[in-house]
Amino acid sequence: MSEENKPPIIVDLHDQTALVTGASRGIGKAIALTLAAAGAKVACVARNADKLAETADAIRSAGGTAEVFPCDVTSGESVDKVVDDVVEKWGKLQILVNNAGVTRDTLSPRMSDDDWDTVINTNLRGAFLFVRAASRQMMTQRYGRIINIASVSGLIGNPGQSNYSASKAGMIGMTRTVAKELAGRKVTVNAVAPGFIETEMTAAMGDSILEEVKKRIPAKRLGKAEEIAWAVLFLASPAAAYITGQTLTVDGGLV
Ligand code: NAP
Repeated sequence: MSEENKPPIIVDLHDQTALVTGASRGIGKAIALTLAAAGAKVACVARNADKLAETADAIRSAGGTAEVFPCDVTSGESVDKVVDDVVEKWGKLQILVNNAGVTRDTLSPRMSDDDWDTVINTNLRGAFLFVRAASRQMMTQRYGRIINIASVSGLIGNPGQSNYSASKAGMIGMTRTVAKELAGRKVTVNAVAPGFIETEMTAAMGDSILEEVKKRIPAKRLGKAEEIAWAVLFLASPAAAYITGQTLTVDGGLV
């Protein structure tokens, strides 16, 4: 990791294993690199094996440990197998980051069944499947950190995103409930709600919309993927032991 990308907080995650979904690009890749830089062994999950390999190679080049586990998060069978494989390989699974997500934006009157189902299945069902599989392991080992990447769209709504904001609000509700279910086993469950972050997902919105968006951000810029990763690093750390069921908004003050 370059000096410029070094996290501005020091967290030691040596002897811990992290699983990051959507690790092939964007925010998930930054989270995988950041947790690895803190010492965690990182299981990189997404559908595109070649892109995942680029993330794992970048981690290894920086002296970290990573393996790729190609998987479609909407398949319960594949999700269970990935969690089993990770535990078999590294013995434990302390950190789960549910970051895989998609958008299919269109105004509600025009939204197809497929646009709705794809977004709900990937963002919400996929996160639940990993929570279910990983929490069984975390309850047994009596330690865990689950971090769900939601969105400000799930908190304040966004025209054209009824499917996406429903999926993210669903993740926030699931976070609150699972936090209560697992607190007695020293497993914390929190969400991070990013605002607008520079990735392929926001690049697809186009420059003119992004210029309008910037006017709503007091920080006057989009966030960087690393700035979400640093929030995740904190919540994944022992320093966040008494924080659970919360949603941390990271949006530059978006109004
Ligand atoms: P991105 O660049 O589009 O990356 C999405 C990631 O999810 C990719 O790694 C993709 O890999 C993976 N993915 C998608 N569908 C999948 C599936 N069915 N199974 C497994 N992996 C799948 O998005 P991003 O901007 O980094 O966003 C990451 C997360 O942050 C998402 O949950 C998004 O909703 C959230 N978020 C982003 C922003 C933003 O401004 N960028 C704001 C708020 C919240 P494959 O295609 O290879 O599977």
